[in-house]
Amino acid sequence: MLDLVKLKLFWRSLIDILYPRSCLICSDSINDSLYDGACRDCLEKINLNVTPFCKKCGFPLKSATTTDSSCSKCRGKLYYFDRALSVSQYTGITRRCIQLFKYRRKLKIGKNLSRIMLRFLKEHFSIDSIDLIMAVPLHRSKLKERGFNQAEILADFIRLNLKIPASFDNLKRVKNTLSQYQLPLEKRQLNIKDAFECTDKSFFAMKSVLIVDDIFTTGATLSECSRVLKDAGAKKVYTLTMAR
Ligand SMILES: [Zn+2]
Ligand SMILES: [Zn+2]
Repeated sequence: MLDLVKLKLFWRSLIDILYPRSCLICSDSINDSLYDGACRDCLEKINLNVTPFCKKCGFPLKSATTTDSSCSKCRGKLYYFDRALSVSQYTGITRRCIQLFKYRRKLKIGKNLSRIMLRFLKEHFSIDSIDLIMAVPLHRSKLKERGFNQAEILADFIRLNLKIPASFDNLKRVKNTLSQYQLPLEKRQLNIKDAFECTDKSFFAMKSVLIVDDIFTTGATLSECSRVLKDAGAKKVYTLTMAR
């Protein structure tokens, strides 16, 4: 077994000599075998959200009082999930990483992001309370166009590390909606309504589910997924996103 590890490391360093890896963000060469796609310096520049968080969407609050612990974007809003956690804000390096991952197919960056998400989840959430991990599904035509579901890549890394069962095919996106970001905020809820369906409802009965996605924008998509899961009998629904 040890020999296999040594062989792997030898192979990795040989590849590094032949094909030096460089960071997709700053172009510096990457020498650390733990990193791929983006270098450690760039990834460490990601500003992680710090507590207190908005109790509805996970956005960091400047300060929380006992009477109001939701952010200005969530005031008066109703979401179907029980709690949302978001690792950072959709700016700077986080935004750059998500764009490279999602629109330029740099899947290695996705691995880096999922590692950061996993660490954040362990720090701010009780892992024992999750029975099942899933990803926000893409409609089959979108999946065909993009070639991969970014949320599923993130969720897959997290569930493998936590050894928690996953379900990637029991919630389907049956409506090919317009991209949420193309729509004004007030139209997003309606656009996403009835976009998801459970294949086997009993699968979610009494389970606490964690749904993973890359970005929490208005929360409409995650809330609609949560509504369908709750309708299928899920006990609790939590969400984890890289950015809010
Ligand atoms: Zn870099
Ligand atoms: Zn909020």
